[in-house]
Amino acid sequence: MADKTYIGRIIKAMSGFYYVRPEEDQIPLPEDDKDLYRCRAKGIFRKKKVTPLVGDRVKFSITETEEVEGNISEILKRRNSLIRPRVANLDQALVIFAFHTPEPALGLLDRFLVEMQREGIDVVLVFNKDDLRNGDEAERYRDIYKDAGVKLIFTSAVKGTGIEELREILSHRVSAVAGPSGAGKSSVINALIGEDSLTTGELSKKIMRGKQTTRHTELVEIGRDSYIIDTPGFSSLDLTSLSERELPSFFPEIRGFGDSCYYKDCSHINEPGCEVRKSMELGLIPRERYDSYVSIYEELKGRLSRVN
Ligand code: GDP
Ligand code: ZN
Repeated sequence: MADKTYIGRIIKAMSGFYYVRPEEDQIPLPEDDKDLYRCRAKGIFRKKKVTPLVGDRVKFSITETEEVEGNISEILKRRNSLIRPRVANLDQALVIFAFHTPEPALGLLDRFLVEMQREGIDVVLVFNKDDLRNGDEAERYRDIYKDAGVKLIFTSAVKGTGIEELREILSHRVSAVAGPSGAGKSSVINALIGEDSLTTGELSKKIMRGKQTTRHTELVEIGRDSYIIDTPGFSSLDLTSLSERELPSFFPEIRGFGDSCYYKDCSHINEPGCEVRKSMELGLIPRERYDSYVSIYEELKGRLSRVN
């Protein structure tokens, strides 16, 4: 007789075990080991040569000998899978910058947005430390990113501003968290988890500190069926294999105007009859985004001509 199977999500992979959280309320959760079923996946690997990933939704059965142990029999179809972090079924990337301390490096942010556009991953852009905001800075960011294809939120982990809005956006999704050190990633996560759960806060703090301490990949549950995962950060951003010619397609606001340029293969840098430049000068494309485009374009072009 075949074992009864359940559907769950792999939250953590460690030492050959996959820790699975059952979906919905299919089965009573085991009481120990942080409510996870510790599973093996020997069968699928032997048959199909696929390795389960954290984030995978799987079918598993509970082995009779040990209640909290199980066996994964199938990996459900993946939406996507990322190399860094090694995770499947990512729904969105949450990128956290600060209004101040540290000052946001928008060029770095735009590189990250290109990378996410390329992967087809939605971006939630958070400017944290709203309590340190001056004058019209929020409006300015709203203008710069209004057509960049991102959701924009302002938070203050200290005052609690925007945290409920963010919780809503993270709900029932798997989100990768990125952003420069000191922007307040740990503080925002702790605000989401709730200040009273100190141990969880410390745990997330440790996980957010990254790969130096934790060698395994792990989803952190911030609510029922809502997970976040740390990313290795901006330093590892890798735009190799991207040609400068493809770049306009990863800037939504440039892509739209580029079709009307005089030259079909216009680079939008200095050709005559360039509608992108004209639109930028008319204020239809934010100058900051255009400057990032030029800077990334030059970098990609320089790299390729050095290789050739
Ligand atoms: P991480 O490196 O991105 O995880 O940043 P942390 O969460 O460790 O925060 C870095 C520093 O910024 C800490 O001193 C926090 O107390 C402070 N911080 C975090 N969020 C806020 C905020 O919303 N407002 C202010 N004023 N400070 C914050
Ligand atoms: Zn052009």
